[in-house]
Amino acid sequence: MTQTAGTAALVQASDITKRFGRLRALNSVDLSFAPGERVALAGPSGSGKSTLLHILSGLLQPDGGQLFLDSQPAAKLPPGKKLSETVGFIQQSLDLVPQLPVVQNVLAGRLGQWGLFRSLASLLSPRERDSAYRALTRLGIADKIDERTSRLSGGEQQRVAIARLMLQNPKIILADEPVSSLDPARAEEILEVLTSLADESQGALIASLHDPALIRKYFSRVVGLRNGVVQFDISARELTAQVADALYDLDRTPKA
Ligand code: ADP
Ligand code: MG
Repeated sequence: MTQTAGTAALVQASDITKRFGRLRALNSVDLSFAPGERVALAGPSGSGKSTLLHILSGLLQPDGGQLFLDSQPAAKLPPGKKLSETVGFIQQSLDLVPQLPVVQNVLAGRLGQWGLFRSLASLLSPRERDSAYRALTRLGIADKIDERTSRLSGGEQQRVAIARLMLQNPKIILADEPVSSLDPARAEEILEVLTSLADESQGALIASLHDPALIRKYFSRVVGLRNGVVQFDISARELTAQVADALYDLDRTPKA
C-alpha cells in the first residue's frame, strides 16, 4: 500500500464485490487511496474499471464489502451536500444536459451543495455566472458560456464537464476514460487540468485510461484490473510496456 503512515485514507475499499446476474464484475477488491495520490485504473475492456468508479462515486451499491469515503461509511453519506463535497465523478458519457446552455451545465456542479430553492435562484445570479465564467476561462472555452451545450465538440463538452467538477470542488475526483476520445495534445491538456485540480484541493484523482506513457507522466500509481480482480497495484514508474502488455494480453513476440 502506498498510503503514508498517519494520513487518513480518502478512499478505503475492502473486499468489494459486484455481480451482474452470474457475472462477477468485481471480485474482492481491496484498495486504499490517500490525499495527494493520482491513481490510474488500467485494464482491458470489461475488466471492471467503470463498475469500480461507479461504486466509488456512490452511484452503485456493491453486493459485498465495505467502502469508506473520507473516513465515513459511503452508504451513510447523505446524498446532497456531504456527498458532493466528498466525491465528484466525470462519467464516460459526461452526463451533460445537451439542450441547456453551457453555463447551466457548469452551475449544476453546485446543485449538490445547495438546496433546491437556492439552486433555482442561483442559476440566474450574476455572481454564480462569474464563477462559471472563471472555470470556463481556465479551460479555454469562456466564449462558449451561452452556447447550447449540444453545439460544442466532444472535446469542448469534456471541458464543460470538468468546469462543472471545478464548481463542485470535491476531495475525490473520479474520471472514467477522460481522454479516450481526444487527440494526444488535447489528452495531455485534460490530464494537466485534472491533476492540478486534485493537487490544489489536496485530494485524490482516480481515472481510468490505457496509455502507459500518459500514466507514467501524470499519475503516481497504477492499479491493473482484469476480470474484476486487481492484478497489480504499483508505482506508475513501474508500468513498463511489458507489464502493460501482459495486463492487456498483447503478445508482441515476433511470429515465426
Ligand atoms: P470496463 O469499464 O473495464 O470496460 P465494466 O465495469 O464496464 O468494465 O464492466 C465489467 C463487466 O460487467 C463487463 O463484463 C460488463 O459487461 C459487465 N457489466 C457492467 N455493467 C453492467 C450492467 N449494468 N449490467 C450487466 N452487466 C454489466
Ligand atoms: Mg468502462
